[in-house]
Amino acid sequence: MSRLIERRRSRIHGNGVFATVDIPAGKKVCNYIGDIITHDAADALYADTLDTGHTFLFTLNDEYIVDGNRRGNIARWINHGCTPNCEARIAEHPGDDRRLDRVEIHAIRDIAAGEELTYNYGIRLEVPHTARLKTLWACRCGASECSGTMLQPKR
Ligand SMILES: [Zn+2]
Repeated sequence: MSRLIERRRSRIHGNGVFATVDIPAGKKVCNYIGDIITHDAADALYADTLDTGHTFLFTLNDEYIVDGNRRGNIARWINHGCTPNCEARIAEHPGDDRRLDRVEIHAIRDIAAGEELTYNYGIRLEVPHTARLKTLWACRCGASECSGTMLQPKR
């Protein structure tokens, strides 16, 4: 699985994840892995860093978050993109234990070897989008349709 992709420096931001081979649309690229922690635990652990704009946290469901900072894998380096070639899907476990749900990254179109992988982080903040937050969550994906921000419009 990991042979499909590798981590390299990215023009978008810091590190990125790139296809090492052609990846067909629909293929699962990897899981987003890390410790499974509660929302409260994440708030306690990362209260000081949540507003840096760059955390390795993925909301799994109403109860849990995947913490890519701890026992995370390459998926945490995938950048946000406004015209992404991948999407993150939650694979719900059939049982009652929501900790067993998984975050899967799938290709949503054919990806050529060498292309950077991106997905839409889908970040929705409860708080007003201040200038500071807009700066923190600025998008530099380079797409012609780039909205300039990772923040999704308020519903
Ligand atoms: Zn963008």
